[in-house]
Amino acid sequence: MRIDHLIDGRSVSGRDYFETVNPATQETLAEVARGGAEEVAAAVQAAKAAFPKWASRPAVERAGLIRKLGDLIAKNVPEISKTETRDTGQPIAQTGKQLVPRAADNFYYFAEMCVRVDGHTYPTPTHLNYTLFHPVGVCALISPWNVPFMTATWKVAPALAFGNTAVLKMSELSPLTAARLGELALEAGIPPGVLNIVHGYGTEVGEPLCVHPDVRGISFTGSTATGNRIVRAAGLKKFSMELGGKSPFVVFEDADLARALDAAIFMIFSNNGERCTAGSRILVQKSIYSEFVRQFAERAKNIRVGDPLDEQTIIGPMISQAHLSKVRSYIDLGSKEGATLLCGGLDAPKLAGALSKGNFVAPTVFANVNNKMRIAQDEIFGPVACLIEFTDEQDAIAKANDVQYGLSSYVWSENIGRAHRVAAAIEAGMCFVNSQNVRDLRQPFGGTKASGIGREGGTWSYEAFLEPKNVCVSM
Ligand code: NAD
Repeated sequence: MRIDHLIDGRSVSGRDYFETVNPATQETLAEVARGGAEEVAAAVQAAKAAFPKWASRPAVERAGLIRKLGDLIAKNVPEISKTETRDTGQPIAQTGKQLVPRAADNFYYFAEMCVRVDGHTYPTPTHLNYTLFHPVGVCALISPWNVPFMTATWKVAPALAFGNTAVLKMSELSPLTAARLGELALEAGIPPGVLNIVHGYGTEVGEPLCVHPDVRGISFTGSTATGNRIVRAAGLKKFSMELGGKSPFVVFEDADLARALDAAIFMIFSNNGERCTAGSRILVQKSIYSEFVRQFAERAKNIRVGDPLDEQTIIGPMISQAHLSKVRSYIDLGSKEGATLLCGGLDAPKLAGALSKGNFVAPTVFANVNNKMRIAQDEIFGPVACLIEFTDEQDAIAKANDVQYGLSSYVWSENIGRAHRVAAAIEAGMCFVNSQNVRDLRQPFGGTKASGIGREGGTWSYEAFLEPKNVCVSM
């Protein structure tokens, strides 16, 4: 199978191709066009040409097309989720039941929202101020390889609904479902040039796209290192940066332990641990630490690792051999740093047949982790849990905040005052209290510190995809 670029509504062959492989088996899934500055320029030109007409269409018409795209995704959930699972190794139970259906919801949601964009008025005795919201123009939408379809639609849906045109660049490790998104967008009747897709590597496609003078806005999801590089290279543009995380999952002695354990397991091991909002630093109060650690490791040992196409699988393969090596290097480092390995480790899970070649790693649990260790500070982005002890509320907050990142956080306590105090004190874009990460499309999603700039979701997506203008009229 060949995957080509989508530029101005046409499938454009690559001058060169690279392979995308199934991380569960190393089987080649497709040859993918390898773009460069030339394809980026053509795609930006197409988006620029399509912009005036698309932006000036009544929002209700744009909404109709966006909703139709949602319908086409909803109709094709089994096919898209299977492709996503084969391309990424994310278990089918998650792609099929949560991530791809949510992609359809993103289009439904922003179809509703774009017809409601209104302004504000600020009357004074002598002047009337009012705001207008304009689309930004050509937007660069850049997605990472973890949950790529959902992430791409989380950007494409608001960008297009609000009247922007776009060039989408997927990760070279997981390009397949975005290619399908391009086909479905045309089938829905979204005009040529409104959504363009250029495949390829970060430095060859992503960088020329971000620095292109006709690109006015950049919505990027990926690592903090790449985010920094883009901000430096692109200069003055509108940025939305959704970056890495090392989120604290804080469990006080008065928490509902059974629920906290379920959520802690889910937040580090679901999506293969390749999750930006993973609760990867599990901070547990001293009085319950030993018991919590024992029960946590017991549950982790029973997590099913294997074929991501099997509905029962919880952990599939890591996205690539390079990423597997990175995750394994941290497992090795954890033991060297003096943490106690309770389960998992460097022995690969034994899987039969083609799966024996997959990038599998066992769910790994480290106890007695010191928050200063690198396994507690660096984003591992795999199924590796670090359990850290704290003494009291102050110590919990200090340890939760002693990290460069600030994406998500989780607080478990039945003491309502304490839960609110700690939620307020943690430096993060999101805090979930007595809850795992539950997404409401209206909530501001994003992080602080090294986890990003700006928020997306609901009216927060205005920041990324609309330009407010103030009009001041003398009376
Ligand atoms: P990455 O930064 O390596 O790549 C992300 C995307 O950027 C890819 O499409 C890549 O090709 C492209 N890219 C690479 N170099 C570029 C450059 N110089 N200019 C422009 N584009 C470039 O990240 P990844 O390994 O694909 O994804 C994992 C990271 O993404 C983790 O750090 C994770 O936390 C983060 N992430 C964050 C969120 C969030 O919402 N905050 C969500 C998912 C993933």
